[in-house]
Amino acid sequence: MVLKQMEDISTKALRSSQISYGELMKCAMEARKNSYSPYSGFKVGAALLCRDGKIYTGCNIENAAYSPTNCAERTAFFKAISEGQREFLAIAVAGGREELEPCYPCGVCRQVMAEFCDVEQFEIVCGTSANDLEVFRLKELLPKNFG
Ligand SMILES: [Zn+2]
Repeated sequence: MVLKQMEDISTKALRSSQISYGELMKCAMEARKNSYSPYSGFKVGAALLCRDGKIYTGCNIENAAYSPTNCAERTAFFKAISEGQREFLAIAVAGGREELEPCYPCGVCRQVMAEFCDVEQFEIVCGTSANDLEVFRLKELLPKNFG
């Protein structure tokens, strides 16, 4: 019952933001163009939808030392959080070398999402075009999260 009520709130917020997941994916695809990925050649873009309807985008940013590399999803989250956002509805992720390939958030990004999102509600949108989407709840991709 509680879950259903939260789902209604989430759906309303999504509706009031007037953006579809296809459009959110297009934002991720656009953000992917800024990817800095000379080492892997795997370009990723992300678009994070906040409850107030704002969208924060991010791309992956690699580094010669490898471990300082930041994923597109975390770039988007850190931009949003540093601007004061705390409530998130969904994130779209677009990745691939030349063309888009199925691309899912890494474990580190999933854990960052779990820090700020309701794992039962937050949705992750993946796909190879705005018309070819898979939608997951965070709980599906990160069962039994830490914290
Ligand atoms: Zn990641």
